[in-house]
Amino acid sequence: MHAERLERVRSAAREAGVDAILLTPGANLRWLTGYAALPLERLTCLVLPTDGEPRLVVPRLERPAAEASPAGAGLDILDWDETDDPFALVASVLGGAARVALDDHMWASRVMALRDAVPGAEQVLAGPVIGPVRAVKSADEVDALRRAARAIDSVHARMGEWLRPGRTEREVGRDVADAIRDAGHDTVDFVIVASGPNGASPHHDLSDRVVRSGDPVVVDIGGTTPDGYCSDSTRTYAVGTPPQEFLAYYEVLQRAQAAAVAAVRPGVTAESVDAAARDLITEHGWGERFVHRTGHGIGVETHEDPYVVAGNTEPLVPGHAFSVEPGIYLPGQHGARIEDIVVCTADGVESLNRTTRDLVVLPG
Ligand code: ZN
Ligand code: ZN
Repeated sequence: MHAERLERVRSAAREAGVDAILLTPGANLRWLTGYAALPLERLTCLVLPTDGEPRLVVPRLERPAAEASPAGAGLDILDWDETDDPFALVASVLGGAARVALDDHMWASRVMALRDAVPGAEQVLAGPVIGPVRAVKSADEVDALRRAARAIDSVHARMGEWLRPGRTEREVGRDVADAIRDAGHDTVDFVIVASGPNGASPHHDLSDRVVRSGDPVVVDIGGTTPDGYCSDSTRTYAVGTPPQEFLAYYEVLQRAQAAAVAAVRPGVTAESVDAAARDLITEHGWGERFVHRTGHGIGVETHEDPYVVAGNTEPLVPGHAFSVEPGIYLPGQHGARIEDIVVCTADGVESLNRTTRDLVVLPG
């Protein structure tokens, strides 16, 4: 159990008037205990009372795995047999808790079984308690994100080896995925190679479209490193000479991305970072083509708090780590996005991704 994380979560739970938090396998459990539990049909559940010792309820056959994980050191593990009722066990550990916060990604079947097992307890979401705590990264976590960013930067720096006319997006994507692993990631989480008109779909992944000379190509890639932290970076390339209109809006996009990064410092709101990019893009007439928020927090998940979006009036604090990724998309034609992971520091901002944001024109 990470003692410091546990204390921060407890204090947030106290403030929220929550008596206990229940976490099933997923990012929250992994982040809090170091136990990357399998999401099985058998119940594994951390019971974390706001005051009192945490208990990890596991199926008996998972006990060795739980004990071998970092959670095994110092965390009280309770196991249940195949014919036991694990929800009754959780209920007995919970005692008289009146307000219980459940992992946002807990299966509905569990939520309902817990409701039946602990009928007197009010169920609320744990996300509003844990999310803001996870959003503020420690120095070690920033280091881990920095290493992840360096790794993905090294893949972008090699794009010219793979991206050229005559190859399909899928062929390019396969090479990029290998390189993401070779660069030190455990898993490849996503590979977007969006050429020509596919670039206008922000979450296009890979297709059999053949890259042609003159195509702008949006490449958005990320993975998870062995220590559990995620990378996520987008660069837009031109293969050969791109259309004039693309060059015009790419220049605006680049300035908007830089303006949003420059706006980051403690005390400014997340929505004002979004506005810094959006206002500039709107001023130049492309506002309608910027169809998503400016960014998302990142850590042990690619998307987590804080979200850089209008309406998020949360002031940034040192340790907030998130993407700054405005985009401009022209349906049927092409698109562009530039994405860096940045961290709010004591006196400003550090951009973790460092590859050039100038348009990289590859031979076409
Ligand atoms: Zn991305
Ligand atoms: Zn992103």
